[in-house]
Amino acid sequence: MSASTLPNATLTATYEAMTPGSARLADKARGLMPSGLSHDSRHFDPYPLYITRAQGPVKWDVDGNKYVDYFGGHGALILGHNNPAVTAAVHAALDRGTHFGACHELEVRWAELITQMIPSAERVRFTSSGTESTLMALRLARAYTGRSKLVRFRGHFHGWHDHMTSGHTNHFDGTPTAGVIRGISDNVLLCDPNDVEGITRIFNEHKDIAAVILEPTGANFGKMPILPSYLRLLRDLTRQSDTILIFDEVVTGFRVSPGGVQQVLGIIPDMTTLAKIVSGGLPGGAVVGRKDILDGLDFKVTKATGRERIYHPGTFNANPVTAAAGVTTLEIIASTDVCARANAFGETVRRKMNDVLVEEGVKWSVHGSYSGMHIFTNPGGDDIDPHGFDAAAYISQMIDKTRGEGVTGQVRMGLLVNGVDMNSGPSGTISATHGEEEMATTVEAFRSTIRALKREGAITPA
Ligand code: PMP
Repeated sequence: MSASTLPNATLTATYEAMTPGSARLADKARGLMPSGLSHDSRHFDPYPLYITRAQGPVKWDVDGNKYVDYFGGHGALILGHNNPAVTAAVHAALDRGTHFGACHELEVRWAELITQMIPSAERVRFTSSGTESTLMALRLARAYTGRSKLVRFRGHFHGWHDHMTSGHTNHFDGTPTAGVIRGISDNVLLCDPNDVEGITRIFNEHKDIAAVILEPTGANFGKMPILPSYLRLLRDLTRQSDTILIFDEVVTGFRVSPGGVQQVLGIIPDMTTLAKIVSGGLPGGAVVGRKDILDGLDFKVTKATGRERIYHPGTFNANPVTAAAGVTTLEIIASTDVCARANAFGETVRRKMNDVLVEEGVKWSVHGSYSGMHIFTNPGGDDIDPHGFDAAAYISQMIDKTRGEGVTGQVRMGLLVNGVDMNSGPSGTISATHGEEEMATTVEAFRSTIRALKREGAITPA
């Protein structure tokens, strides 16, 4: 069933007619878990989809509906769902045992691959998530510099631990979010992305900055682009002041290129945080970087130099099943053109979706870089050209996620009832398995969505 087979139904009514099984599960879940959810980004009105199975670029819900998937395991699945080599490696690891409580050979191979692929990676410490990676990166930077402050950029996401909450979706003035104490938020300095004056002022006013962290293509994988010239400025400012520059490549690492953004731009941070692809679609992460900084974790070096060592356990760090998925995934990325293929699909799908906007006379834009796409619904009603849209000029509008909220939900709904799943941006990440068929489905789903929204009066053509 799709919106086109129910021409007069509202998108929501169509969704409800398609997904009774998801409705039943959501109802039960709400009585068991807050909002019935395990991750905020799965929140969706009237209820989220419940998925049973996925393969390559597609997945199926409990009612048997098929979707082209751009959620992509929250960006983890550049090889698509169930890559046969990764699945085989995981099965083999399961057969050998899921946890040895000991060092094992695969983690050594995994770390070796990471150091070969990521330019800044002289040393690797595995964690169990991206959140843990940014937490450890900050601790290492503070221990190394003996300083307190962390500089972050409004809109950028680095996981959910206490230092990373203000200024992501709210509390843009830096005040603490619910449950975080002021002592922590007082040590976080927020800056607007690409604000040269702002960052220069911060560095002039504060001599106590341990680290600067950012998503190097900009917040939400390039939705709010960071200019390469700004990355260079940050590299210069941090180098001059012996401040640690951390690239959060949890999404971009092994995606925009085998060596991440740093390889493409030739701007090498002091530390890099990794998760998602590094773990081949299973839970895991890593913090990597300069040897002298990661030496803060080293038994021998800290003893020899009189530095206090940073304690770092973690039951599932580098567990053998994740390591098997990670090694196999990185070997495929290093030896094939998967990143380039996903990037090429991204460029084409963005262009074709923008062609739809032009044909339909809608002044929105589908923008992004590499294997990302973001639908900008132009809440200010500006006279924009879908193909020539300058997302960097709209960052302050995009940071305020309440703007245009209603229509972005309807776009997502329209795409779902036409067989395409994106996140609530709506944004999508692309895998190397997305091909011609998915391209055609996506472009037509977008066209049907735009037309349905016109019928429902949610958009008026220019
Ligand atoms: N940093 C970035 C840039 C991310 O996108 C994410 C997750 N979306 C994280 C950190 C946190 O990673 P995790 O969900 O594994 O904790």
